[in-house]
Amino acid sequence: MAELEGLEFGKSDFVLLDEVTMEQFMENLKLRFEKGRIYTYIGEVVVSVNPYRQMDIYGKDTIDAYRGRELYENPPHLYAVSDAAYKAMKRRAKDTCIVISGESGAGKTEASKYIMQYIAAITNPSQRAEVESVKNVLLKSNCVLEAFGNAKTNRNDNSSRFGKYMDINFNFNGDPTGGHINNYLLEKSRVVQQQDGERNFHSFYQVLVFCSTSNTFTDQKEPPRVFFFLQTSNNDRSSHKAVMNALGVIGFSEEEISSIYQILASILLLGNIQFESDGENVQVLGQEAVKHISELTSTDPDSVTKSLLFRTVATGGGEVIEKGHSEQDACFGRDAFAKALYERLFGWIVSRINSIIEVKDYNPVLHGKNTVIGVLDIYGFEIFDNNSFEQFCINYCNEKLQQLFIELILQQEQGEYQREGITWQHIDYFNNQIIVDLVEQPHKGIISILDEACLSVGKVTDTVCLDSMDTKLSQHPHYTSRKLSPTDKTMDFQKHFRIRHYAGDVTYSVEGFLDKNKDLLFQDFKRLMYNSSNPVLKEMWPDGQLSITEVTKRPLTAATLFKNSIVALVDKLACKEPYYVRCIKPNEMKSPVLLDDARCQHQVAYLGLLENVMVRRAGFAYRQPYARFLQRYKMTCEYTWPNHLMGSDREAVEAIVTQHGFQDDVAYGHTKLFVRTPRSLFSLEQERAALI
Ligand code: ADP
Ligand code: MG
Repeated sequence: MAELEGLEFGKSDFVLLDEVTMEQFMENLKLRFEKGRIYTYIGEVVVSVNPYRQMDIYGKDTIDAYRGRELYENPPHLYAVSDAAYKAMKRRAKDTCIVISGESGAGKTEASKYIMQYIAAITNPSQRAEVESVKNVLLKSNCVLEAFGNAKTNRNDNSSRFGKYMDINFNFNGDPTGGHINNYLLEKSRVVQQQDGERNFHSFYQVLVFCSTSNTFTDQKEPPRVFFFLQTSNNDRSSHKAVMNALGVIGFSEEEISSIYQILASILLLGNIQFESDGENVQVLGQEAVKHISELTSTDPDSVTKSLLFRTVATGGGEVIEKGHSEQDACFGRDAFAKALYERLFGWIVSRINSIIEVKDYNPVLHGKNTVIGVLDIYGFEIFDNNSFEQFCINYCNEKLQQLFIELILQQEQGEYQREGITWQHIDYFNNQIIVDLVEQPHKGIISILDEACLSVGKVTDTVCLDSMDTKLSQHPHYTSRKLSPTDKTMDFQKHFRIRHYAGDVTYSVEGFLDKNKDLLFQDFKRLMYNSSNPVLKEMWPDGQLSITEVTKRPLTAATLFKNSIVALVDKLACKEPYYVRCIKPNEMKSPVLLDDARCQHQVAYLGLLENVMVRRAGFAYRQPYARFLQRYKMTCEYTWPNHLMGSDREAVEAIVTQHGFQDDVAYGHTKLFVRTPRSLFSLEQERAALI
């Protein structure tokens, strides 16, 4: 319980609710939001509501107030969990992680930045130069990742379009020595198309500044005014500067930086290429653009044209032939190429940052154990009007993380009771393993069925694939479709299936699933890039050296690659001590004063926050070391005020508990008092307040 706050701010921990109901939860959330208290605990979990305004709670004074303190000594704050994670890492040499979840616009990325700033602020008090430089790179990497991975969407002006997991390494002193970033599923379809009112990735507007200030367009004074990949061509001048600066500070060379911008410009120019067909042959419209692309990518212009119009195929007899594209194939190829260029660029930037911040020459014998704090900022559940392959992957990822959440929270509770010698009753909770299996099980799961469809030789359409899912999954309690429930008019026979996720039902449109899963890019483009005389570009396309006959016929699909990366992520998190931040978006208007009941209730429900409170309360809602409990409540009992004369603190605590008549509501651990219902502690707290 946060001690510095009065009750007029509501309950600083949801476990203190009189009853665990949605009404009470919402009432407390709302009261606190209105009073400007955006953070509330559920035990050690922080529930955060996006304030949509600058709060004066992140300054140096606040950092100092939280530094080295225990969770309940201050009002709830991100800094308190950051400190808890840091202390566990430093004092107990535990690897820890902070998992931040919530829907788009809920405040995850801002939270992750405050957490990193806090950690940066409390470490390296002696200002050692090499540690400062590591911290600087870690902080600057956010700026670069945001430029390349974020975009304005209808939900969030600075929405992260990728998942991010960052490990920060520490030496035995508790100072950062390096780090590692993993990125997940960049939304590359945005490169070629955005919904009304949305933008492409920020980097594309920054490259416009670059184009107008450099000699990118050698024989033209001005770059094209219209880019088909951008809805508006307003440039982002100020952020361009910041990103250039960040790239430099991190350690990108000038050659690398200009290669990055050349690639971005090429992608925009690719978008301006159109095709024309006379019924037989297909031509490129826009030779100028081709010429510029070849200059920017240091490739031969004829080869650029050729890879846009033809593909090399190996015939059954082992012969290699060139096959001309139809106009439609050519457009498909161009877009796939643009998306792939961007995806590889992003991946390359991340790996380049990693190579700079990776811990080098760490000798555990000399330097002690190298410990880690991981920070996960990843997309939350997405339920849109039209849900496609991306939502399917993202929601699967959330199922995995929810499973981990329940397991770890319960495990952690159980572990503590065992250490303290207290009997623990098992709590039943909804185990979403069944939904995870529905998606990922070998042979029977949706991903397997998709993969099978993608790899089969005949022409398999999305609809055929849906049929196959219906047949194989008809008995699954969390899967349905129009064919399986014919009366449900909200679904279409040809395209919809529905998964009952733990967070709610989501109807997916199967249209485009197979193409997105196959994620086909003609080998000709890969070879074109591999043959670039720009070493930076070449490095991004090592698979371009393969000839068409060497290319594997069964490449891993997008869904399988994603699944593998999420399984690896979960393994990584599972072996760390977890801390959770659950973010809530108060309204759709970005308003600092409105807490939309229906929207928030929905989030509370799918984040499983009520269950979280129940789990926390089903055991012992509160626990405190004897000495601390005594310190706080000794004035409420004649035997302990001002000092106790009993043998031990534990006996003194027993005296307080007995005098207040809640001895049946507690258990005595080896070092801590455990209180089952918050009510007991609450009355004690009121009595204390009346006395002081
Ligand atoms: P998410 O990563 O969950 O999609 P963001 O962290 O990008 O959401 O937050 C969206 C916007 O909300 C931010 O750009 C900022 O304007 C506002 N915001 C979020 N958290 C805070 C905060 N703690 N203080 C002030 N504004 C915030
Ligand atoms: Mg974000």
